[in-house]
Amino acid sequence: MRVDVLTLFPEMFAGVFGSSILGKAQDKGIVSLKPINFRDYAGNKHGTVDDTPYGGGGGMVLKPDPIFRAVEDLLMARPTGAPAPRIILMCPQGESFTQRKAEELAKEEHLIFICGHYEGYDERIREHLVTDELSIGDYVLTGGELPAMVVIDSVVRLLPGVLGNETSAISDSFSTGLLEYPHYTRPVEFRGWKVPDILLSGHHANVADWRRKEALRRTWQRRPDLLKHIELTPKDQKWLEEIRAEQDE
Ligand code: SAM
Repeated sequence: MRVDVLTLFPEMFAGVFGSSILGKAQDKGIVSLKPINFRDYAGNKHGTVDDTPYGGGGGMVLKPDPIFRAVEDLLMARPTGAPAPRIILMCPQGESFTQRKAEELAKEEHLIFICGHYEGYDERIREHLVTDELSIGDYVLTGGELPAMVVIDSVVRLLPGVLGNETSAISDSFSTGLLEYPHYTRPVEFRGWKVPDILLSGHHANVADWRRKEALRRTWQRRPDLLKHIELTPKDQKWLEEIRAEQDE
């Protein structure tokens, strides 16, 4: 996968793109991550990329031409026959980013992210250039760099070969539609608190049942809204009834 990020602050990406899973994914050649300063496409000697809003009011608005030119340059540089990239505008007004969206984007070959700053973007960028608008939550950050990093991290970790243990992404919270079950490691007893016996039993089927039931319990307790969107098996339904009864005890 190729990921290009249009930003006014490319230096912000060095640590995140060069470390941990993202750094290793690049070393393995699974993904190429490239921040690009769209000020280089300003087309004027001062490198101006923003201007005051028509109609007045505070804040500066990102001009359309540098961002259009930067995207068009990337499109022209694509090998012939390469599929069209997704062009993703980071924006608090966009679609809420979810694990489903990460899974959808992980199937693409090329993603282009546009990181805003200041008051906002000229509306023509939204209307005539982008394929997606994504928000990472109902709050406002200074710029689109941190949101783009969040999205890129969650997409890249889903690419085959990126995580050491392929199953770890499959059982993650939200991938299954449920929150993940609780984890324990050594020691068996810590300050009097014990690891559940079943996890020490070595009985794989019982461990799998325990994990499924605990994932259901955690989701029911913390995010009951998620249960409406998944298909529950008769066994799940029985466990949920038990969980509700256990709660009432
Ligand atoms: N005035 C804009 C509004 O009310 O929608 C907010 C602009 S914000 C200060 C500057 C930039 O940060 C945005 O253009 C966007 O790229 C990014 N940003 C801020 N919060 C975000 C969020 N929750 N999700 C995605 N991007 C965000």
